[in-house]
Amino acid sequence: TAIPSTGMAKMDKDGAFQKYEFTRHAVGDCEILIDIMYSGICHSDIHAAKGEWRPTKYPFVGGHEIAGHVVKVGKAVTKFKVGDYAGIGCLVNSCGECSYCKNGQEQFCSKGPVFSYGMPDPYNSSEITQGGYANNYVIAEKFALKIPKNADLKRVAPLLCAGITTYSPIQFSKVKKGDTVAVAGFGGLGHLAVKYLVALGAKVTVFDITEDKRTAAQKMGAVKYVNVKNAHEIKGLESQYSFILSTIPQKYDPTLYIKMLSMGGELAIVGLPATENQPMINGASLVYAARRKVYGSLIGGIPETQQMLDYSVANNIYPDVEIISANQIDEAYQKVIDGKVQFRYVIDMKTLKK
Ligand code: NDP
Ligand code: ZN
Repeated sequence: TAIPSTGMAKMDKDGAFQKYEFTRHAVGDCEILIDIMYSGICHSDIHAAKGEWRPTKYPFVGGHEIAGHVVKVGKAVTKFKVGDYAGIGCLVNSCGECSYCKNGQEQFCSKGPVFSYGMPDPYNSSEITQGGYANNYVIAEKFALKIPKNADLKRVAPLLCAGITTYSPIQFSKVKKGDTVAVAGFGGLGHLAVKYLVALGAKVTVFDITEDKRTAAQKMGAVKYVNVKNAHEIKGLESQYSFILSTIPQKYDPTLYIKMLSMGGELAIVGLPATENQPMINGASLVYAARRKVYGSLIGGIPETQQMLDYSVANNIYPDVEIISANQIDEAYQKVIDGKVQFRYVIDMKTLKK
């Protein structure tokens, strides 16, 4: 039987979040039902809620940084038992048969992965997925993450998107101890990137557009903080960095960062500004900054997400979070847009009354 769910949804583009009752598909043999305790607010939720990338399907329940515990297991489930902590990130299904899926890179599934919200799920009668701003979620055990027992549940949820999205390119670019690296955009994703890079022993510079986060960057172990609004602070940084991660969600000039790469250096782009704010890279400027590499990165597969989670909990790497209640989502969205969050909002889903 279908599982009743209560969430916070936007019913149209301009309306506020409101309580919304819906159903999720019945718990299959290989699936689990998670009672959600905490749900992070990612800037992607905001882009999606506003239809900034493509038209959004309403009602829209956001949330792909989900932490809770298992309340029901299908009869073939082996990875979880009732009472275990469990997490959900951006990925909730994929074909399981293509070479990407078989290699644990479900985010690149050749039939297209199914994301946690706003997408038809062809593996479940094409129901439109609804995210984690809700009291529960039904998911195949394969796509659920095991949250270690000793994890700090209040802070763990943002690792499931912000954590893996920054951890994965750091691994892919093989950043190592002593490397001179940088993070552009010091928000939810960016501050976790700084923590991973500092833990690796890299020398980290942070780029952002505010004075408000200078001290926080230092506290997290960054060696330099650059407010890119101050032209004099950017001077002399050409060819300095072997790795730069850009998490910027607004229009900006990537060439600024490409020029800062040392020869052979890599710029990984994970920020996904609205379609109308997409940054452009000029071909000639790439030639002039020859032999620097630019690539995009999209979350990470399930095995790497589990690895990131175990590593983060074992090394006490968590986001800085502000816990809010379910009726504060609209206010929180505005504060993220205005750069007023330190550094991730997490909704206490138990504040959502049935
Ligand atoms: P946040 O809003 O928390 O952080 C963005 C940060 O970038 C803020 O600190 C902001 O500044 C800063 N910023 C804005 N403009 C500039 C600029 N021109 N130069 C330098 N810094 C700037 O967002 P998130 O970290 O949650 O998400 C970042 C982006 O990553 C989003 O576009 C999101 O959709 C995308 N994303 C991509 C994923 C992927 O798999 N590729 C996965 C998850 C998210 P301020 O201090 O003023 O706020
Ligand atoms: Zn996200």
